[in-house]
Amino acid sequence: MSGPVKEDTMKSLCGLTASEIAELGECNEKHSLAIANWLYKSKPGGMELIPDVPRKLKEKLKDISFPGVFAPVSSIRSADGTVKFLFRNESGQEFETVLLRDAKRTTVCVSSQSGCRMGCPFCATGKYGFRGNLSVRDILTQVLAPGIEGKVTHVVFMGMGEPMDNIDNVLRACEIMTASWGMAISPGKITVSTVGITPGVRKYLGSCNSNLALSLFSPFPEERLRSVPAEKSYPAREIIELMKSATSLKKRRMSVAYVMIRGVNDTAAHLEALKGLLHGSGIRVNLLPYHQLPGDVNISSPPETMNKFRHELVISGISASIRKSKGADISAACGLLAAGL
Ligand code: SF4
Repeated sequence: MSGPVKEDTMKSLCGLTASEIAELGECNEKHSLAIANWLYKSKPGGMELIPDVPRKLKEKLKDISFPGVFAPVSSIRSADGTVKFLFRNESGQEFETVLLRDAKRTTVCVSSQSGCRMGCPFCATGKYGFRGNLSVRDILTQVLAPGIEGKVTHVVFMGMGEPMDNIDNVLRACEIMTASWGMAISPGKITVSTVGITPGVRKYLGSCNSNLALSLFSPFPEERLRSVPAEKSYPAREIIELMKSATSLKKRRMSVAYVMIRGVNDTAAHLEALKGLLHGSGIRVNLLPYHQLPGDVNISSPPETMNKFRHELVISGISASIRKSKGADISAACGLLAAGL
C-alpha cells in the first residue's frame, strides 16, 4: 500500500480506467483487465502480486506507476459500530469517510470535495469552508483503503462536498465503481446526494444509471433559500422536474432527503406542500432527524412528528421512510463532517 505522496513523474493507477491502464502500460486488453481487476477488486498490495500478467509488464509498470490507494491518517469508532476515517491527500487536503455496517450491507459514505463551497448554514462541512475538489483517486481510495474491511455493497456520496460541483470526477469514480473490470458494484447500490446544481444533475442523469437523492429541507422556495443558498440559482422544483423524467426512463431510485427540524419545517403546511410537490412523481422521501451543531438552537422533530409525516405521505401515495441516524457520537452523521477527527 503506498502513501499519498509520489513524484510527479509517477502515475497513480487508482483512478484510471482499464483502457487508460492499457495505454499507460502499452499492453493488450487481457492484461489491462487483469491489472484493473487486481487494483479495484482486491486491497492492492505490491505490484509484483498482480496475477495473470507477465513479469516484464509488471516491472515496466513499477517504473512508471504506483497503485495509488493510500491509508487514512486516523479513524474513530462509534458506540454503534460506525467508523469515521480521516484522509489527507498528496496536496494536503483533508476529507472524511464513514463506514456503516448492518447485517446485510456494508456502506461507505464518501466525500467528493475537501470541505464545500455551498455554504449551507446548518452544515459543519459548509462551515469548514472549501479546500478543493477530490480527484478520482481520492474518491476511490475511500472505498479501497485499509480499514474499509469486508466487501463494500453500497456507496453513498453523502460525505463532505457537493458532488455536482465536482461532477466529472464523480462520474469517472462511478464508472470505475460499477464497471465489471472495476469494483463491479451495481449502479442501483450507489447513491449520489445533492442540494441540486442543475447543470451537474442534468449531466449525472444523462451519464450514469445510479441513484440520486435531493436534499430538500423545505418545500417552500423562500424558506429553502435560507437553508440552501443554491436554491437561488437552481430551484428545487427545477431539479425535481429533471428527477421525474429520470424515474420514468430508467430503473433507478430518485429520492428526496428531508431533514426534520422542530417548529421549522415540520408543520402541517410543510406536509401539505411536500405532498403537492411530489405527488405522482415516483420520487420517494427519506425523513431524517436533525443533528445539532454546537451553539445551535434548532433541534430535531420528535419521533411522533416524523412518524406522522411518514404515514401521511404514504397514504397519499408517496413512498416514505424514516432513516435511523448512525455515528452521531463521533460526528459522522449527516451534516456533521468537518475533517475534525
Ligand atoms: S449540506 Fe452538502 S452542499 Fe450544503 S454545505 Fe453541507 S456538504 Fe455542502
